[in-house]
Amino acid sequence: MTLTNTSVKELRVHIVGAGMGGMGCALALARQGFTNIHVWESAREIGEVGAGINITPNLSRILDSWGVLDIARSEAVALDGASVLNSVKDEVLTAVDFQYIQKEFGYPFYVVHRSALQKSLLEGAMSSGAVSLHLGKLVTGWDFDANRFQVKSRGTAKAATSSASPDEENSQWIEADLILAADGVKSKARTAMLERQGEVDEVEDTGQAAYRIIVKRSMINEDPDLVPFFTGSHSYRWIGERRHIIAYPIASHDLFNMSTAHPDRRFVEADSWTASGSKEEMLEMFSDFCPRVQKLLQLVPEGDVLEWKLRVHAPLSHWVDGNTALVGDACHPTLPHLAQGAAQAVEDAAVLGAVLGRIQSKDEIHRALLVYQNLRKSRADWAVLTAAANGKGLHLAKGSAQEARDLAFRTAKKEGGENPDKAIDQVTQRILYAHDCIKEAGEKYEELYRQIVETEQQ
Ligand SMILES: Cc1cc2nc3c(=O)[nH]c(=O)nc-3n(C[C@H](O)[C@H](O)[C@H](O)COP(=O)(O)OP(=O)(O)OC[C@H]3O[C@@H](n4cnc5c(N)ncnc54)[C@H](O)[C@@H]3O)c2cc1C
Repeated sequence: MTLTNTSVKELRVHIVGAGMGGMGCALALARQGFTNIHVWESAREIGEVGAGINITPNLSRILDSWGVLDIARSEAVALDGASVLNSVKDEVLTAVDFQYIQKEFGYPFYVVHRSALQKSLLEGAMSSGAVSLHLGKLVTGWDFDANRFQVKSRGTAKAATSSASPDEENSQWIEADLILAADGVKSKARTAMLERQGEVDEVEDTGQAAYRIIVKRSMINEDPDLVPFFTGSHSYRWIGERRHIIAYPIASHDLFNMSTAHPDRRFVEADSWTASGSKEEMLEMFSDFCPRVQKLLQLVPEGDVLEWKLRVHAPLSHWVDGNTALVGDACHPTLPHLAQGAAQAVEDAAVLGAVLGRIQSKDEIHRALLVYQNLRKSRADWAVLTAAANGKGLHLAKGSAQEARDLAFRTAKKEGGENPDKAIDQVTQRILYAHDCIKEAGEKYEELYRQIVETEQQ
């Protein structure tokens, strides 16, 4: 079926998941003039869930081009630098001054509460008038051949007179022209897509878990040891064997966000972002960390310790099936050690906007999605592998490798350069932060599209 250019923009676009990837897609496509965009989200509301998240320059560049950067950074802290410290001695192993980041990449390194980033994407998408958000809708089934998926309403009362089962009654199939599955790290779309190729969807348990802790300024009783964490604009990473804590101020310096990586001793059941952990176990896990860290951890109210599993996935063989594509954590779940989870999900969305904005007919959707996969996959897979390797390097046990690393930390340049912590290594940052994914998509689209057509003809 060939449609006119006007009607291409009326194609039925359905997005699953209203996280960063999903809302990013909605906004990107609305900005390309698509008018019939639906987002299906299992949560009943878009709450202020989450904690600190990083807005690195590659993400700022996209938000800026969409006109929503100011919303995202309204309560942001622009980091002036980052330090890596020995967890026991509290001794600075390396300190990097981030002045070069703004100069070289055009934007500072922002840290925000996740809700601020989510708000920017949500407001941008909803203000377009082209996006309908369907909350409390769990996607339960996928039919890639027919371009449709099954949605179940969460918690809707079943009609007493009906003979249908509650599941049948609550369910509906949604027919689409284009489906973007941004259903996160536990993506069911990914499982279904891999299954069709006889592949098993194996999420790897890293054996690591993470606590997410937030300390409010009002809790610290102006303790002079802790005040600088709030008044400054600095990121701290305390490293020890198999464990580390990264911490920075967010929310206009009102909150100090701490997130850990540590051995998953109790095989944390939960892999959701809202599962609670035990304060006692957390204190024990970091009992050999320095007094400043101990003070911070002690301040966290018992019920506010959240713990979840850190999971990864080997690079997928493919992200696209028919007119459905995977987006964000669904296709490249990552460890947090490179600060790229949200940035890579939004890069996916931006590239999808750029390629789908160029199609002239519905028949071109599949090829445009293959162009997206071609543009994005190697970069996102590389970021995932680099984050995992970075975690390993940070968690070294005592020995020669650790000594060599610490020497490299000590000799690293303060004004930027090579650094063993890849999150603050200028070489890695150049690959990540200098990249303009929208520009690249524009430059390469025709060529990649032509190659796909040629492959089809062979
Ligand atoms: C509640 C929450 C809190 C988070 N907090 C932090 C944080 O503090 N710091 C941090 O660095 N990262 C956090 N993350 C992860 C971070 O947002 C993602 O790693 C990154 O932004 C990639 O985004 P994504 O859109 O691919 O995945 P996500 O942001 O995880 O979004 C996936 C969305 O899909 C929805 N979904 C999943 N399955 C279905 C289904 N079957 N039907 C319908 N909807 C479905 C989920 O509810 C979720 O809203 C959080 C994620 C979530 C969901």
